[in-house]
Amino acid sequence: MISILEQNSKLSDQNTNPALVVIKNQPSYSIYQRAVKDIITIDEMLKILKKIDGKYVLFKNGRGVIGATAAIAWSPKREGKTYELITYREPGRWGTKREIDDDTVKEMDKIYTTTFDNYDYLNHHNRIKPNSPCPILYGIRGLKPDDLIKACKHVKSEKVNSWLIFETNQGTDDHIQRKKVNEVKPYQSVLIKGEVAEPPFTIKGGHVIIKIKDETGVIDCAAYEPTKQFRNIIRNLIPGDRLEVYGGVREQPLTVNMEKIKVIRLKKHVIKKENPICQVCGKHMKSIGKNQGYRCVICGVRDSEPLMEESKRGLKTGFYEVPVCARRHLSKPVKLITPLHKKREEG
Ligand SMILES: [Zn+2]
Repeated sequence: MISILEQNSKLSDQNTNPALVVIKNQPSYSIYQRAVKDIITIDEMLKILKKIDGKYVLFKNGRGVIGATAAIAWSPKREGKTYELITYREPGRWGTKREIDDDTVKEMDKIYTTTFDNYDYLNHHNRIKPNSPCPILYGIRGLKPDDLIKACKHVKSEKVNSWLIFETNQGTDDHIQRKKVNEVKPYQSVLIKGEVAEPPFTIKGGHVIIKIKDETGVIDCAAYEPTKQFRNIIRNLIPGDRLEVYGGVREQPLTVNMEKIKVIRLKKHVIKKENPICQVCGKHMKSIGKNQGYRCVICGVRDSEPLMEESKRGLKTGFYEVPVCARRHLSKPVKLITPLHKKREEG
């Protein structure tokens, strides 16, 4: 086992720090939850393993011990789970450009509706194909193993050397914790409910920021440039809109990196229609000056407010998410949020 790891690990890569963990009894599910929702250090994980008599081998800094132990502690029966069919390349092709026919990926995506995050139609990005020079050809994620096998047969590509279906926590939102604004901590992934406090604004780099407030405080939430079209949704929000925001938290400055939002209530957007009409003369009044109100030029009657009208909103209530190309693996795609789930949330 150790020799397989030694032979196949790309130890020269600075982000490759593998570990091998063997445990007789499954560790507590809470270890998985902590690893996926919060921070757990290598030392803490080693202490936990010693306590439950787990055996391990570490390579380099051994960070892989966190994921390996958490994976053993995971219980797919507890909460939602998904599957991923992973195909592997012929060893001679490792590191070369992958040959996958995009059109068949799009077709597969449309035919097999229980699969998800296959193709980004907005940004023309084939999401089943990894970017790294790893031995994986592609991975199709979905809810039903049988559909994954059929979906795989639909994709035209270079020769598939072998394939395997994994149970996974992808697309489950397992990382998300519901928090009040003043409870939000760096590196967590949170769900906060609140109101837009100020009009959205764009900062250098094309990132769009909104401030969300609840009864405990205000926090910045960002739609970063890589979230592309999602930023247009955020730009359409106005103060008073009520939302739920899902996202990971960065430390400096403390900001929620939005993965998706649920618009719960849209505030009526009223804008000035025209100057007020004089009740005596029936004519439009003239503005006296900025914030000074209006006056009838014929009889001199004053009024402070113009005539207002409701402006149409470019948004509806419901979920909005970042495009497929910007989606994190754990993030639950809106297409998997079933009507049953919605009902529970609203009730
Ligand atoms: Zn008048």
